[in-house]
Amino acid sequence: MNKESEQKIKGIFEKQKAFFKTNQTKDIEFRKTQLKKFREVFLDHTDALCEALDTDLGKSRKEAEYVEIQIVISELDYLLENIDEWAKPTFVDSKPHSSGADVVSKITYQPYGVNYIIGPFNYPVQLTFSPLIGALISGNTAIIKPSENTPHVAQVIENIVKESFDESYVAVIQGAIEENTLLLSFPFDYIFFTGSPNVGKIVMKAAAEQLIPLTLELGGKSPTIVHQDADLDKAVTRISYGKWINCGQTCVAPDYIYIHESVKDTFIEKFKAYLKTTYNNESLGKIGKIVSPNQIKHLAGYLEAAPEKVIYGGKYDLETRHFEATLMDNVTWDDQVMQQEIFGPILPIMTYSDINDALEEINNRPKPLALYIFSENKEFAEDVLNRTTSGDAEINSSIMHVGSHYLPFGGVGTSGMGKYHGKFSFENFSHSRSVLEVK
Ligand code: NAD
Repeated sequence: MNKESEQKIKGIFEKQKAFFKTNQTKDIEFRKTQLKKFREVFLDHTDALCEALDTDLGKSRKEAEYVEIQIVISELDYLLENIDEWAKPTFVDSKPHSSGADVVSKITYQPYGVNYIIGPFNYPVQLTFSPLIGALISGNTAIIKPSENTPHVAQVIENIVKESFDESYVAVIQGAIEENTLLLSFPFDYIFFTGSPNVGKIVMKAAAEQLIPLTLELGGKSPTIVHQDADLDKAVTRISYGKWINCGQTCVAPDYIYIHESVKDTFIEKFKAYLKTTYNNESLGKIGKIVSPNQIKHLAGYLEAAPEKVIYGGKYDLETRHFEATLMDNVTWDDQVMQQEIFGPILPIMTYSDINDALEEINNRPKPLALYIFSENKEFAEDVLNRTTSGDAEINSSIMHVGSHYLPFGGVGTSGMGKYHGKFSFENFSHSRSVLEVK
């Protein structure tokens, strides 16, 4: 990056600092007007976004509309509908001070100031704009850095932002490590990062230098337990939905299966049959594209390390970036595929005979972003929930919790910190300031 680009980025940051000081973003009507304009511009760019998502990630129009466009719009409408209520101060009891003097205690909600939002490649639209609208509804300004790995989408994001906002309020900076490193040296008021745990550490270190509050939306290996009393047909279709969408490049995708040994063979037969009819491997590409040839090589490495364990799929095409839905059997914790988050369409299957052993293995590892339990026995499911931890969890389904306005979404430990979506976004991007008044 040359000096001129560096100065330009610095200039935008300073403009935003100055604009925040004018207090215009404190006005709720201002926030609503700006976001309504954004809503229109965003929808006008639906075709451009869908085309870019197809080019960068092979997302079908239907998938792009469902998991990228509509998610942003429904979140935005929900925030616009509720902001007046949420932004009101919350009056609370004044005990133990209230005896004698007349004391009023309230919690008020203040924007932090200038926010920095760093996006990942896998859902590049919703994972950039959902945090953005959370930041803006709460009265902040924002600089966004979309992922450099989905460049066509990043360009449309920039066009939308330029058409919707003045750069002293919201701006997009394109770039990769160099730009991110520069931006992370600025005294932002809040940082919102979505990406891998490794880069999360870099971001957190930079934030620590200036004690900048932050949210980290990270990833990890999300276990999927299939117990002996599970409805196996349900399990196959619902695990498939979460695993193959976006070619396995979903932070909350079931990373691996832990299944009771007594039902494994039946489960695998059902899984193969379902894959043959629904994700016919002749249509390589039905499940989207892997983001880059390098990532394909990385995924292929898992198969090459244990070719005898690949029981379904396994083909890929470096040129078109397609990769088959792939099952691996007889996998153990020592296999290469179990050493880090897979982030691709490979599903390893491991077995247990005693759930206590499986839970011990899970609990000995970093806390996952999600944990899925398939069982028809409520008590069993509750017991597993009680004895494990994860950012979030589901019973008899996968990845659906992410789409709810009413559930806080986020990780714990190495899978992240901080929660957002719906009201939790407002809380995430607001500083709760206690005010006590003695009359
Ligand atoms: P990534 O960490 O490689 O990149 C994320 C961002 O960090 C990009 O904008 C990139 O430019 C920047 N970056 C990359 N390397 C950097 C460095 N060395 N220094 C400074 N900045 C750097 O993540 P990704 O590959 O885009 O996304 C995949 C990861 O994100 C997976 O681990 C996945 O689980 C996680 N993820 C989490 C969520 C969630 O909501 N929790 C959502 C999507 C993805």
